[in-house]
Amino acid sequence: MKALGKYSIGLGDRFGHQGNAQLMAIIEAGKKGIEITPVWNKSNREHITIGTEPGDVRKEADTVTKNLAFTKPYFVDADHINIDTVDRFIPGSDFFTIDVASYIGKKADEKEIQNFIKTVEKYSVKLQIPGIKEPFKISDSQLLEIAEKYLFAAKKAGEIYRKIESSKGKGNFVTEISMDEVPLPQTPVELFFILKMLGSEQIPLQTVAPKFSGRFNKGVDYVGDPLKFATEFESDLMVISFAIKEFGLPENLKMSVHSGSDKFAIYQHIGNLIKKHNKGIHLKTAGTTWLEEVIGLAESGGEALTFVKDIYSKSLDKIDELCAPYADVIDIDRTSLPSKNVVSQWDSTKFADSIRHVQGNKSYNPNMRQLIHVAYKLAALKMDEYFKLLDKNEKTVSKCVYENIYKRHICRLFEIK
Ligand SMILES: [Zn+2]
Repeated sequence: MKALGKYSIGLGDRFGHQGNAQLMAIIEAGKKGIEITPVWNKSNREHITIGTEPGDVRKEADTVTKNLAFTKPYFVDADHINIDTVDRFIPGSDFFTIDVASYIGKKADEKEIQNFIKTVEKYSVKLQIPGIKEPFKISDSQLLEIAEKYLFAAKKAGEIYRKIESSKGKGNFVTEISMDEVPLPQTPVELFFILKMLGSEQIPLQTVAPKFSGRFNKGVDYVGDPLKFATEFESDLMVISFAIKEFGLPENLKMSVHSGSDKFAIYQHIGNLIKKHNKGIHLKTAGTTWLEEVIGLAESGGEALTFVKDIYSKSLDKIDELCAPYADVIDIDRTSLPSKNVVSQWDSTKFADSIRHVQGNKSYNPNMRQLIHVAYKLAALKMDEYFKLLDKNEKTVSKCVYENIYKRHICRLFEIK
């Protein structure tokens, strides 16, 4: 079976230019004793916006690993696919994030629901999960509610999994199930029964991405109570361990956190808890590499700075259109966005500091950062010019990409000094 390592990180690279810098960060972590499996992920939405094909991500991953003589496993993730979008991802991907969000809440057949309830009735009086102090008491109505909410989605996940399996062959790819793009978080109890359903579908899932409490906006820090998150996260870890034994799920099944990048407030908690319980983790980051490209171009000055100022200016004109697809995962206070005129006067440092995620820096503006994060489409419209600038200023840009992944993400999560 193609197996994901204990630690893995999902790397987004919208324009396919930064794989080298990203891999350097992974290699550096390895030198410090933290082996991380790189997974390049790109969703259907990103491919459509930019006009790339899933095969392009495969090409990039194969090229950079070859160039840097990286001989350890790496993967290409068909990120957030469903039954309608999976096809074109099948040839080039060996990691599939099956997204069941759109199926949650749709009801399975009454008979299937009743059958499921029969198989889990034994847990309903008292569900004692090792590692969690208090047992859960689950009423019949609660159990029915869970079955009505999730069983159809689990069956759909089975259908998608089997579609991929029939084409790629059993054991030749990693399967993840994601449920993070929904309005409400799943509780540890819900996660337990969802894993039962996925086990019954015989999906050899290696990672599962629930939705946690709090907000995971793209490219900015966690919004919520980090301690509450830690309690929930730890319960979920215990649920996964127990479910592996109870439902015959793969031994290496682990938590996947679709972080949206930059969740600095909770990295330390995640790091401590996986260490405490000796667990693995898959940390999926968003395409914030694009933001690092913008920062690098701003730092480069001249025509590169002019280019990114123009992107920002246009993003203000098209703010509604750019934000719409990301409405659930961004929070932009429009009154805190600097005007075009103000920004046109800025130098390299001011522009870069405004969007680089360094909270102590007075210029840092999370609203501007989020807006530029969703504005990558505007660079895609001037792709030739954009790529020329990236190539010309490669050294500065790749340093930004590398430092972001290595210092701000990997070092914090794994407490590398
Ligand atoms: Zn996600």
